[in-house]
Amino acid sequence: MKLLSVIIPCYNEEENIRDFYEEFFRNQAFFTEKELDVELLYIDDGSRDGTVDEVRRLHEEDGRVHLVSFSRNFGKEAAIYAGLQKAAGDFAVVMDADLQDPPSLLPQMYSYIEEGYDSVATRRVSRKGEPPVRSFFARMFYRLMNKISRTEIVDGARDYRLMTRKVVDAVLAMTEYNRFTKGIFGWVGFQTKWLEFENIERKKGETKWSFWKLFAYSLEGITAFSTMPLTLAALMGALFCVLAFVMIAVIIVKTLIFGDPTSGWPSLVCIIMLVSGVQLFCLGIVGQYLSKTYMEVKKRPIYLVKEDF
Ligand code: UDP
Ligand code: MG
Repeated sequence: MKLLSVIIPCYNEEENIRDFYEEFFRNQAFFTEKELDVELLYIDDGSRDGTVDEVRRLHEEDGRVHLVSFSRNFGKEAAIYAGLQKAAGDFAVVMDADLQDPPSLLPQMYSYIEEGYDSVATRRVSRKGEPPVRSFFARMFYRLMNKISRTEIVDGARDYRLMTRKVVDAVLAMTEYNRFTKGIFGWVGFQTKWLEFENIERKKGETKWSFWKLFAYSLEGITAFSTMPLTLAALMGALFCVLAFVMIAVIIVKTLIFGDPTSGWPSLVCIIMLVSGVQLFCLGIVGQYLSKTYMEVKKRPIYLVKEDF
Protein backbone atom coordinates (compact mmCIF):
# COMPACT_ATOMS: atom_id res chain seq x y z
CA MET A 1 0.00 0.00 0.00
CA LYS A 2 1.14 3.52 -0.78
CA LEU A 3 0.12 6.51 1.31
CA LEU A 4 -1.42 9.68 -0.08
CA SER A 5 -1.34 12.75 2.18
CA VAL A 6 -4.03 15.31 1.49
CA ILE A 7 -3.24 18.80 2.80
CA ILE A 8 -6.23 21.05 3.33
CA PRO A 9 -5.57 24.61 4.56
CA CYS A 10 -8.65 25.86 6.40
CA TYR A 11 -9.40 29.32 7.64
CA ASN A 12 -12.93 29.67 9.00
CA GLU A 13 -14.24 26.79 6.92
CA GLU A 14 -16.53 25.01 9.43
CA GLU A 15 -19.27 24.54 6.80
CA ASN A 16 -16.87 22.94 4.35
CA ILE A 17 -14.96 20.46 6.53
CA ARG A 18 -17.50 17.64 6.34
CA ASP A 19 -18.55 18.40 2.76
CA PHE A 20 -14.96 18.10 1.71
CA TYR A 21 -14.54 14.79 3.52
CA GLU A 22 -17.65 13.32 1.91
CA GLU A 23 -16.85 14.61 -1.54
CA PHE A 24 -13.28 13.37 -1.28
CA PHE A 25 -14.18 9.79 -0.40
CA ARG A 26 -17.02 9.60 -2.91
CA ASN A 27 -14.66 7.85 -5.28
CA GLN A 28 -13.49 5.22 -2.78
CA ALA A 29 -13.23 2.72 -5.64
CA PHE A 30 -10.29 4.64 -7.05
CA PHE A 31 -8.30 4.44 -3.82
CA THR A 32 -9.07 0.72 -3.44
CA GLU A 33 -8.13 -0.05 -7.03
CA LYS A 34 -4.82 1.82 -6.80
CA GLU A 35 -4.10 0.44 -3.31
CA LEU A 36 -3.79 3.92 -1.87
CA ASP A 37 -4.06 4.67 1.83
CA VAL A 38 -5.17 8.20 2.53
CA GLU A 39 -4.50 10.62 5.38
CA LEU A 40 -6.51 13.83 5.41
CA LEU A 41 -4.52 16.61 7.05
CA TYR A 42 -6.72 19.56 7.86
CA ILE A 43 -4.49 22.54 8.67
CA ASP A 44 -6.44 25.02 10.74
CA ASP A 45 -4.92 28.42 10.10
CA GLY A 46 -6.12 30.06 13.31
CA SER A 47 -9.85 29.85 12.50
CA ARG A 48 -12.24 31.67 14.78
CA ASP A 49 -15.26 29.51 14.03
CA GLY A 50 -15.95 25.84 14.69
CA THR A 51 -13.42 24.48 12.21
CA VAL A 52 -11.36 22.67 14.86
CA ASP A 53 -14.40 21.06 16.52
CA GLU A 54 -15.67 19.94 13.16
CA VAL A 55 -12.34 18.25 12.37
CA ARG A 56 -12.23 16.68 15.84
CA ARG A 57 -15.65 15.14 15.30
CA LEU A 58 -14.50 13.70 11.98
CA HIS A 59 -11.31 12.39 13.59
CA GLU A 60 -13.35 10.46 16.14
CA GLU A 61 -15.36 8.85 13.35
CA ASP A 62 -12.46 8.19 11.01
CA GLY A 63 -8.83 7.75 12.06
CA ARG A 64 -7.62 8.89 8.65
CA VAL A 65 -8.53 12.48 9.55
CA HIS A 66 -5.86 14.59 11.25
CA LEU A 67 -5.44 18.17 12.35
CA VAL A 68 -2.71 20.73 12.84
CA SER A 69 -4.09 23.85 14.47
CA PHE A 70 -2.12 27.11 14.46
CA SER A 71 -1.95 29.50 17.40
CA ARG A 72 -3.20 32.28 15.09
CA ASN A 73 -3.71 33.05 11.40
CA PHE A 74 -0.36 32.59 9.67
CA GLY A 75 -1.62 32.53 6.09
CA LYS A 76 -2.25 29.81 3.55
CA GLU A 77 1.41 29.60 2.59
CA ALA A 78 2.34 28.68 6.15
CA ALA A 79 -0.51 26.16 6.27
CA ILE A 80 0.76 24.44 3.13
CA TYR A 81 4.25 24.27 4.64
CA ALA A 82 2.94 22.80 7.89
CA GLY A 83 0.92 20.24 5.93
CA LEU A 84 3.90 19.16 3.87
CA GLN A 85 5.91 18.79 7.08
CA LYS A 86 3.25 16.63 8.67
CA ALA A 87 2.66 14.56 5.55
CA ALA A 88 4.04 11.04 5.84
CA GLY A 89 2.81 9.95 2.43
CA ASP A 90 4.62 8.74 -0.65
CA PHE A 91 2.55 11.38 -2.41
CA ALA A 92 1.02 14.61 -1.24
CA VAL A 93 -1.71 16.77 -2.68
CA VAL A 94 -2.73 20.29 -1.62
CA MET A 95 -6.45 21.08 -1.89
CA ASP A 96 -8.68 23.98 -0.85
CA ALA A 97 -11.35 23.23 1.73
CA ASP A 98 -14.05 25.01 -0.28
CA LEU A 99 -14.15 22.30 -2.99
CA GLN A 100 -12.87 24.68 -5.64
CA ASP A 101 -10.27 22.02 -6.34
CA PRO A 102 -12.37 19.11 -7.63
CA PRO A 103 -11.41 15.72 -6.11
CA SER A 104 -12.79 14.16 -9.31
CA LEU A 105 -9.59 15.27 -11.04
CA LEU A 106 -7.41 13.12 -8.76
CA PRO A 107 -7.53 9.85 -10.74
CA GLN A 108 -6.32 11.67 -13.83
CA MET A 109 -3.61 13.43 -11.84
CA TYR A 110 -2.49 10.15 -10.32
CA SER A 111 -2.27 8.50 -13.73
CA TYR A 112 0.37 11.05 -14.75
CA ILE A 113 2.36 10.35 -11.59
CA GLU A 114 2.25 6.67 -12.52
CA GLU A 115 3.51 7.66 -15.95
CA GLY A 116 6.59 9.10 -14.31
CA TYR A 117 5.85 12.78 -13.73
CA ASP A 118 7.14 14.16 -10.42
CA SER A 119 4.35 16.62 -10.01
CA VAL A 120 0.92 17.27 -11.52
CA ALA A 121 -0.30 20.83 -11.24
CA THR A 122 -3.58 22.42 -12.20
CA ARG A 123 -4.60 25.75 -13.61
CA ARG A 124 -8.02 27.16 -14.18
CA VAL A 125 -8.63 28.40 -17.67
CA SER A 126 -11.48 30.74 -16.83
CA ARG A 127 -12.02 33.17 -14.02
CA LYS A 128 -15.77 32.92 -14.28
CA GLY A 129 -17.61 34.19 -11.22
CA GLU A 130 -14.83 36.58 -10.25
CA PRO A 131 -15.06 40.39 -10.26
CA PRO A 132 -13.69 41.68 -13.62
CA VAL A 133 -11.37 44.19 -11.91
CA ARG A 134 -9.76 41.38 -9.96
CA SER A 135 -9.29 39.25 -13.09
CA PHE A 136 -7.74 42.20 -14.89
CA PHE A 137 -5.18 42.88 -12.18
CA ALA A 138 -4.45 39.19 -11.79
CA ARG A 139 -3.71 38.90 -15.48
CA MET A 140 -1.49 41.99 -15.38
CA PHE A 141 0.38 40.59 -12.42
CA TYR A 142 1.20 37.30 -14.14
CA ARG A 143 2.30 39.08 -17.27
CA LEU A 144 4.60 41.42 -15.34
CA MET A 145 5.87 38.66 -13.10
CA ASN A 146 6.93 36.46 -16.00
CA LYS A 147 8.77 39.38 -17.61
CA ILE A 148 10.78 40.22 -14.51
CA SER A 149 11.33 36.83 -12.93
CA ARG A 150 13.31 33.88 -14.21
CA THR A 151 11.08 31.51 -12.26
CA GLU A 152 8.06 30.56 -14.32
CA ILE A 153 4.79 31.52 -12.67
CA VAL A 154 1.79 30.18 -14.52
CA ASP A 155 -1.32 32.34 -14.94
CA GLY A 156 -4.31 30.83 -13.20
CA ALA A 157 -2.19 28.21 -11.47
CA ARG A 158 -3.87 26.87 -8.37
CA ASP A 159 -2.19 25.36 -5.37
CA TYR A 160 -4.01 22.11 -6.24
CA ARG A 161 -1.01 19.92 -6.97
CA LEU A 162 -0.17 16.26 -6.58
CA MET A 163 3.49 15.56 -5.97
CA THR A 164 5.88 12.79 -5.14
CA ARG A 165 7.99 12.58 -1.99
CA LYS A 166 10.96 14.00 -3.93
CA VAL A 167 9.11 17.22 -4.67
CA VAL A 168 7.71 17.45 -1.13
CA ASP A 169 11.22 17.23 0.29
CA ALA A 170 12.49 19.83 -2.15
CA VAL A 171 9.75 22.28 -1.13
CA LEU A 172 10.42 21.56 2.54
CA ALA A 173 14.09 22.36 1.99
CA MET A 174 13.04 25.93 1.15
CA THR A 175 12.69 27.27 4.64
CA GLU A 176 12.22 30.93 3.72
CA TYR A 177 9.87 33.01 5.81
CA ASN A 178 8.28 34.92 2.92
CA ARG A 179 6.65 31.99 1.21
CA PHE A 180 5.25 32.64 -2.23
CA THR A 181 4.16 29.10 -2.96
CA LYS A 182 3.44 29.58 -6.66
CA GLY A 183 7.03 30.72 -7.09
CA ILE A 184 8.47 28.01 -4.87
CA PHE A 185 6.87 25.24 -6.95
CA GLY A 186 8.26 26.83 -10.11
CA TRP A 187 11.67 27.27 -8.54
CA VAL A 188 12.18 23.66 -7.43
CA GLY A 189 11.60 22.46 -10.98
CA PHE A 190 11.01 18.73 -11.60
CA GLN A 191 8.88 17.33 -14.36
CA THR A 192 5.48 18.88 -14.02
CA LYS A 193 2.34 18.03 -15.94
CA TRP A 194 -0.24 20.83 -16.16
CA LEU A 195 -3.93 20.01 -16.21
CA GLU A 196 -6.60 22.58 -16.95
CA PHE A 197 -10.08 22.92 -15.58
CA GLU A 198 -12.92 25.41 -15.58
CA ASN A 199 -13.20 27.62 -12.52
CA ILE A 200 -15.61 26.26 -9.95
CA GLU A 201 -17.29 28.66 -7.59
CA ARG A 202 -16.86 28.30 -3.85
CA LYS A 203 -19.50 26.02 -2.29
CA LYS A 204 -20.08 27.72 1.05
CA GLY A 205 -18.66 30.63 2.98
CA GLU A 206 -16.71 33.53 1.53
CA THR A 207 -13.33 34.00 -0.06
CA LYS A 208 -10.64 34.97 2.44
CA TRP A 209 -8.91 37.23 -0.05
CA SER A 210 -9.84 40.87 -0.29
CA PHE A 211 -8.54 42.91 -3.20
CA TRP A 212 -5.89 44.55 -1.01
CA LYS A 213 -4.78 41.28 0.49
CA LEU A 214 -4.25 40.01 -3.05
CA PHE A 215 -2.41 43.20 -3.97
CA ALA A 216 -0.05 42.83 -1.01
CA TYR A 217 0.39 39.18 -1.93
CA SER A 218 1.40 40.11 -5.47
CA LEU A 219 4.03 42.53 -4.16
CA GLU A 220 5.29 39.73 -1.98
CA GLY A 221 5.59 37.54 -5.05
CA ILE A 222 7.57 40.17 -6.91
CA THR A 223 10.09 40.78 -4.13
CA ALA A 224 10.37 37.07 -3.39
CA PHE A 225 11.14 35.97 -6.93
CA SER A 226 12.62 38.93 -8.75
CA THR A 227 15.26 41.57 -8.09
CA MET A 228 14.35 43.40 -11.26
CA PRO A 229 12.86 46.41 -9.40
CA LEU A 230 16.30 47.02 -7.84
CA THR A 231 17.95 46.96 -11.25
CA LEU A 232 15.24 49.28 -12.53
CA ALA A 233 15.97 51.74 -9.72
CA ALA A 234 19.66 51.73 -10.58
CA LEU A 235 18.90 52.21 -14.30
CA MET A 236 16.58 55.08 -13.51
CA GLY A 237 19.37 56.72 -11.46
CA ALA A 238 21.80 56.33 -14.34
CA LEU A 239 19.28 57.78 -16.78
CA PHE A 240 18.76 60.86 -14.64
CA CYS A 241 22.55 61.37 -14.36
CA VAL A 242 22.92 61.33 -18.12
CA LEU A 243 20.01 63.71 -18.46
CA ALA A 244 21.57 66.07 -15.90
CA PHE A 245 24.90 66.14 -17.76
CA VAL A 246 23.19 66.94 -21.03
CA MET A 247 21.23 69.73 -19.36
CA ILE A 248 24.39 71.17 -17.76
CA ALA A 249 26.10 71.25 -21.14
CA VAL A 250 23.12 72.91 -22.78
CA ILE A 251 22.87 75.56 -20.05
CA ILE A 252 26.61 76.37 -20.14
CA VAL A 253 26.55 76.81 -23.90
CA LYS A 254 23.37 78.86 -23.74
CA THR A 255 24.82 81.13 -21.04
CA LEU A 256 28.04 81.69 -23.00
CA ILE A 257 26.10 82.71 -26.12
CA PHE A 258 23.10 84.58 -24.69
CA GLY A 259 24.36 85.74 -21.29
CA ASP A 260 22.60 84.85 -18.03
CA PRO A 261 19.11 86.30 -17.73
CA THR A 262 17.66 85.19 -14.38
CA SER A 263 14.63 83.05 -15.17
CA GLY A 264 13.47 79.46 -15.00
CA TRP A 265 12.42 79.31 -11.37
CA PRO A 266 9.21 77.31 -12.05
CA SER A 267 11.07 74.80 -14.21
CA LEU A 268 13.66 74.40 -11.47
CA VAL A 269 10.98 73.57 -8.92
CA CYS A 270 9.43 71.03 -11.28
CA ILE A 271 12.76 69.33 -11.82
CA ILE A 272 13.48 69.20 -8.09
CA MET A 273 10.06 67.72 -7.42
CA LEU A 274 10.45 65.12 -10.16
CA VAL A 275 13.92 64.03 -9.15
CA SER A 276 13.16 63.85 -5.45
CA GLY A 277 10.03 61.85 -6.29
CA VAL A 278 12.07 59.38 -8.27
CA GLN A 279 14.57 59.19 -5.41
CA LEU A 280 11.92 58.43 -2.84
CA PHE A 281 10.36 55.85 -5.14
CA CYS A 282 13.69 54.07 -5.57
CA LEU A 283 14.35 54.29 -1.86
CA GLY A 284 10.97 52.64 -1.33
CA ILE A 285 11.94 49.78 -3.63
CA VAL A 286 15.17 49.26 -1.72
CA GLY A 287 13.13 49.45 1.50
CA GLN A 288 10.84 46.66 0.29
CA TYR A 289 13.77 44.32 -0.16
CA LEU A 290 15.36 45.46 3.08
CA SER A 291 12.19 44.73 5.05
CA LYS A 292 11.95 41.27 3.51
CA THR A 293 15.59 40.64 4.36
CA TYR A 294 14.95 41.88 7.88
CA MET A 295 12.09 39.41 8.38
CA GLU A 296 14.15 36.64 6.85
CA VAL A 297 17.17 37.33 9.07
CA LYS A 298 15.09 37.11 12.22
CA LYS A 299 14.50 33.43 11.44
CA ARG A 300 11.11 33.38 13.10
CA PRO A 301 9.19 30.12 12.84
CA ILE A 302 6.85 29.95 9.84
CA TYR A 303 3.96 28.83 12.06
CA LEU A 304 3.22 27.88 15.67
CA VAL A 305 1.12 24.86 16.60
CA LYS A 306 -1.58 24.96 19.24
CA GLU A 307 -2.96 21.49 18.77
CA ASP A 308 -2.04 18.52 16.68
CA PHE A 309 -3.54 15.04 16.26
N1 UDP B 1 -6.87 29.92 3.68
C1 UDP B 1 -5.99 29.74 4.74
N2 UDP B 1 -5.50 30.85 5.38
C2 UDP B 1 -5.82 32.12 5.00
C3 UDP B 1 -6.69 32.28 3.89
C4 UDP B 1 -7.19 31.16 3.26
O1 UDP B 1 -5.68 28.62 5.13
O2 UDP B 1 -5.33 33.07 5.60
C5 UDP B 1 -7.43 28.72 3.01
C6 UDP B 1 -8.95 28.71 2.89
O3 UDP B 1 -9.56 28.16 4.03
C7 UDP B 1 -9.18 27.85 1.66
C8 UDP B 1 -7.94 28.14 0.81
O4 UDP B 1 -6.97 28.71 1.68
O5 UDP B 1 -9.19 26.46 1.95
C9 UDP B 1 -8.27 29.11 -0.32
O6 UDP B 1 -8.87 30.26 0.19
P1 UDP B 1 -10.08 30.99 -0.53
O7 UDP B 1 -11.05 29.97 -1.03
O8 UDP B 1 -10.60 32.01 0.40
O9 UDP B 1 -9.33 31.69 -1.74
P2 UDP B 1 -9.82 31.75 -3.27
O10 UDP B 1 -10.24 30.36 -3.65
O11 UDP B 1 -10.94 32.71 -3.28
O12 UDP B 1 -8.60 32.21 -4.00
MG1 MG C 1 -11.61 29.29 -2.73
